[in-house]
Amino acid sequence: MTDLMPTIFFGHGNPMLTLTENAYTKGWSEAGRSFPRPKAVLAVSAHWCGRGFSVTSNPSPATIHDFYGFPEELYRIEYRAPGSLELASSVRELLSPEKVVFDENRGLDHGTWCILRHVFQDADVPVVQLSMDVSRPAEFHYEIGKRLAPLRKEGVLVVGSGNIVHNLSMYSWEARRPFAYDWAERFEQRVRELLSVRDDATLIDYESPGRDAALSIPTPEHYLPLLYVLGMADKGEQPSFPVEGIDGGSMSMLAVQIG
Ligand code: ZN
Repeated sequence: MTDLMPTIFFGHGNPMLTLTENAYTKGWSEAGRSFPRPKAVLAVSAHWCGRGFSVTSNPSPATIHDFYGFPEELYRIEYRAPGSLELASSVRELLSPEKVVFDENRGLDHGTWCILRHVFQDADVPVVQLSMDVSRPAEFHYEIGKRLAPLRKEGVLVVGSGNIVHNLSMYSWEARRPFAYDWAERFEQRVRELLSVRDDATLIDYESPGRDAALSIPTPEHYLPLLYVLGMADKGEQPSFPVEGIDGGSMSMLAVQIG
């Protein structure tokens, strides 16, 4: 087990959270210190969706500020980790016969860098991003995670970045005190319980709780990165939750680590 790199899903939340030291950013930094030093990171973020598969192939991927109306300070952040053509090529091989396009122009989106600038503060671990095809069913994303699992033996840290509960329209930007909607708490708690008993099938069928699921995951892209991480787990590997909390009532910041 010791030669297997962990794999982790991070709740990235509101990009403003990356600016300050808070319970979430502290948790991300601590997680970074707990990992064996990876050879590279493969990130699957809620913020790169498209048809088919693409991977970043630029040796120096740009920092994408893919959000609007935030303070200038956030747009000045640059996270200039190198890319890795070697890792991009491994992903292409592992996903074959699916076609994987090398995208030289694509940089790292905020789902990736808002977290990684705390996890690997020196930006010295190469990072590659893989896009998600959200037109495919949840089961497909889990299977892709399975196919990527050999990367754990190669010293690659696979990071999923999204939120297990993500309802922006009900999110409170001004919340002074921690609070959570009851449906958000119930849905997150259910996911935690299912993770703890590794009921992967029910986690893939994430819409089954009806109203709680519809409110927690109005669109799938923030939940699906969890399924890549889960797909990479060996049978019997138990998850831990290094970062916890519900932010602004409707955003779960839960991190799920395997290994
Ligand atoms: Zn997001």
